[in-house]
Amino acid sequence: MNIFKGQDLLKFAEQFKTDNDCKEYLSKIKWEQGYTCVKCGHSASQVRKDFSRTCNKCSHIESTSANTLFHKVKFGLRKAFFICFEMSTTTKSLSASYMAVRYSVTERTARLFMHKVREAMKSSENNPMDGEVHVDEFVLGGKEVGKVGRSYDSKKKKAITAIQLTKQGKIRRMYAMSINDFSAKSLAHIFEKHIDKKARITTDLWKGYRPLSKNFKIEQIPSNNGVNFKALHTMIHQVKSWIRTTYSWVSDFNVNRYFDEFCFRLNRSQSKETIFNNLIVRMVKADNIEQSKLICV
Ligand SMILES: [Zn+2]
Repeated sequence: MNIFKGQDLLKFAEQFKTDNDCKEYLSKIKWEQGYTCVKCGHSASQVRKDFSRTCNKCSHIESTSANTLFHKVKFGLRKAFFICFEMSTTTKSLSASYMAVRYSVTERTARLFMHKVREAMKSSENNPMDGEVHVDEFVLGGKEVGKVGRSYDSKKKKAITAIQLTKQGKIRRMYAMSINDFSAKSLAHIFEKHIDKKARITTDLWKGYRPLSKNFKIEQIPSNNGVNFKALHTMIHQVKSWIRTTYSWVSDFNVNRYFDEFCFRLNRSQSKETIFNNLIVRMVKADNIEQSKLICV
């Protein structure tokens, strides 16, 4: 079975006709580097009809979805693959209630699985942004963008975002994350996770960025009501309206997952051909996570 390329829904439906087709796909990714028994470390196995493996030494059976984010997906792998396909190729915002109707699952089931997908969309943090980087903070649910005063409502969710620009001033990559406040200590998170020390960083005049110039090359310029950070503010506007139109209520606990989803797609808009396969590889390589870690009750 070849890796799936492109965004053609009919082609997709043709390649994944049954749950077993999906299992075969997972098995290719999972044992790409060869098989090793998770119980005893033996490297020879029998391949079963459902593409799971039986260890030749200890007879342990490992399914294609064990220890992946597809583990114990109750509604079947085919539906799970379709949800992954939609979430990776769409440009629109898709809610759990939409998925529930489309795939005849409960909204709660859809929401849980979609959070797993978002977990797989999280940045590896292995490729920090370099070159030209613009950084700014914003609030969710508020109109204020590019204000210097930071007279923000304390209850509103606060976030910080950074974009890397191409030489032509276009967006190359973007990351966003929620922060507790606009202090230097909180602002530092995105620098440490996503920005290379060599990057040429521009921020507005907010004093919270000043202490960070000890470790990063930061130039502070007036925002001029956003005019000096046009590309960045366009993205802030997009991520805000994307969250607002789909999710009437986003918990503090989950807001980063929505940012991860948004940025995952945006950062791969030049590699749409392989975005589905990329996502499935991430789903397989990530460890299964407990439901309790997905939804804060
Ligand atoms: Zn074994």
